[in-house]
Amino acid sequence: MASYLAERQAVADMCRRMAAEGFFSGTGGNIGLRLADTHFAVTPSATEYAEVRADDVAVLRLDTLEKVEGDRKPSVEKGLHAAMLRAYPERRASLHTHQPLASAVALLHVDLPWPPRDIPKGFPGGDPAALGARVALVPYRPSGTGMLVKALTRSLKPDIHAYLLASHGVICSAADLEAAAGFVRRIEAAAAHFLRAPIDRRLPLDQPLRTLVYDTLTRAETNGA
Ligand SMILES: [Zn+2]
Repeated sequence: MASYLAERQAVADMCRRMAAEGFFSGTGGNIGLRLADTHFAVTPSATEYAEVRADDVAVLRLDTLEKVEGDRKPSVEKGLHAAMLRAYPERRASLHTHQPLASAVALLHVDLPWPPRDIPKGFPGGDPAALGARVALVPYRPSGTGMLVKALTRSLKPDIHAYLLASHGVICSAADLEAAAGFVRRIEAAAAHFLRAPIDRRLPLDQPLRTLVYDTLTRAETNGA
């Protein structure tokens, strides 16, 4: 009989929500969830997010990444999630996104300051300290490779919960899936806030473009509120 179905369903549900909120672009995003000391669940590779079912979510050994259950091939980024989950046993969920604005900051190869200066009105709530001191940069390595897993592992710090993967996206870990999703929303808002200042200095934009850019930033800074 299939095991951990409730947890695998929770992963499938979060996958749909992250896609609907625009944080997984194309098939760019995946989720890991600790099931026990020895195993974790991970989203399947190259599957439409809207169609992911609990049975598609793979169960892997945390030490060897061997698949013990699941109808589909696990995400190529399974090693990233295993690295996050192995490092901090109290953090059960690991979320990797290609969220648009934080990924734009990741293209700049800089840390994302956290918490943001002058937190804007409507900024997604939560304890700023929960996310740690900053969103740290992991040097560029190609997606889905052991080199990227090594670069992340070397970058991990106990007081930092979220990382920009240079020229790629974001990965964060938290006590549970809901908390990790909250981090993703706040990182996107912080990225919008961070990008606003250099854009301000590059005026003039033409008026329609200016409206579009600033509307996009404001929506992200306030998580659409
Ligand atoms: Zn990715």
